Amino acid sequence: MSMRSILGLGIALLSAVSVAQRPLKVTILHTNDLHAHMEPTPIRGATFGGYSRHATLIKEIKKKEKNVLVLNAGDVFQGTLYFNFYEGLADLACLNEIGYQAQTLGNHEFDKGPKPLIEYAKRANFPLIACNLDLSGEPELAKWVKPYTILEVDKQKVAVIGTILEDTPNISSPGPTVKFKPVFDSVQMTIDELTKQGVNKIVVMTHHGYDDDKRMAAKWKGVDLIIGGHSHTPLGTPNLEGWRASGGPYPTYVKNEAGEEIPIVQAWEWGKVMGKITIEFDAKGKVKKVPEAVALVVDSKIAPDPKIETLIDAFRKPIEAISSAKVGVCEQAITDRTIVGYFLADTYVAQAKAEGVAVDFGLMNPGGVRANLEAGDITYGMAAAVAPFNNGIVVVDVKGAKLLELLQQGLDKGGLIPSADFTYEGAGGKLVSAALRGEAVVADKIYKVAVNSFMADGGDSLFALKEGARVVLKASDLDAFQAFIKANSPLKPITTPRYKK
Ligand SMILES: [Zn+2]
Repeated sequence: MSMRSILGLGIALLSAVSVAQRPLKVTILHTNDLHAHMEPTPIRGATFGGYSRHATLIKEIKKKEKNVLVLNAGDVFQGTLYFNFYEGLADLACLNEIGYQAQTLGNHEFDKGPKPLIEYAKRANFPLIACNLDLSGEPELAKWVKPYTILEVDKQKVAVIGTILEDTPNISSPGPTVKFKPVFDSVQMTIDELTKQGVNKIVVMTHHGYDDDKRMAAKWKGVDLIIGGHSHTPLGTPNLEGWRASGGPYPTYVKNEAGEEIPIVQAWEWGKVMGKITIEFDAKGKVKKVPEAVALVVDSKIAPDPKIETLIDAFRKPIEAISSAKVGVCEQAITDRTIVGYFLADTYVAQAKAEGVAVDFGLMNPGGVRANLEAGDITYGMAAAVAPFNNGIVVVDVKGAKLLELLQQGLDKGGLIPSADFTYEGAGGKLVSAALRGEAVVADKIYKVAVNSFMADGGDSLFALKEGARVVLKASDLDAFQAFIKANSPLKPITTPRYKK
């Protein structure tokens, strides 16, 4: 080897070392659980979220700061008519334009089976990531979904590892070809592989919820930051009118076994906030400092980005026609949400029967009834306003004793709304009786209870529903509700109460 080439090699080595060992400051902007909320969400006279505001916000931050990453922690699918109509592709057009750099797969990404997700993945300008999937049975999807992505920031590597909820087959429809592996081990194996490759800055972008994030943060070795989703947890959000209370600080720190404080962040839901966390890594890739961390409120003070607005306008037009289509008639205005809730509980039962699934009765969570019914025509848009979440319907096996606990738990929060044939009574907040077709609930009997997927997933802390064996119906709650309205039109208010608090 000549002197010159030795010298050259030395310089190359030296620069490789100096590149790898420089400190790095990165700002990460993140959203999760957008659920097709392309447009801002109205809350008490104000509006929050909207992709066009996100675009403006991100552009402004990128103007002022360098090393900005834009990430999404899953559940872009399902939640508004935009999804029903475009199956994620309308959202994707905006996310591409905004410049997202990676997205974790959420459980809802599988709501329509692997096909729409493949179409989405093909067109995404950014990688979809989930390290705990075995896609060998779904090669078309395997082409697009990777365990992690490595983003180059100021000539350094930042790895972002994705995870998807292990429980997805129970609450969504991935089908038999997509296999889910345990999250914890899959992530640790991926970290170890990346560490061997010399990558020392590792972000895990999860989709399994805040509690699991905290639990796993304590145990994983080599994670620098966790960006989460799925539990729709507001972290560090201000106490605005009509907003859910913050579920913890932004970031939430959890100490791991090596004594490091691991920051966990999440950005609530529907893009109403955007998370912003700035991290200073030291030369070894350890988090040295978090100089800025804030859940940015996405409100009307942020100007809409004209390009995204044009996109959304174009996507909105065909939806407007669907939205105004008549589904049925309501005999008189029903402003009592409990009565609207009766319709939904009855809807779940009717749909189970229509699909040939055994069912005893239905239960509806009062918080899931989102609008009243006006007198006159009921349009698709109005039905969608009542049940906007595009939940699935699930028939869960619940033991009588658990059922009584559930009803008591419901009483503490305003009372679960039952379908026809089921009645219960509380006195001073205590459950005193419950009966199916007039027969008292038996403690060790199994009841087949139709609920929405939010409840079946343990939403509203109804954890007993999460435990039982289940059948997921084919129709969404909104599709089933439309069928119910059609079959029972004109809707009349139900005047006999089915439960007493
Ligand atoms: Zn989710």
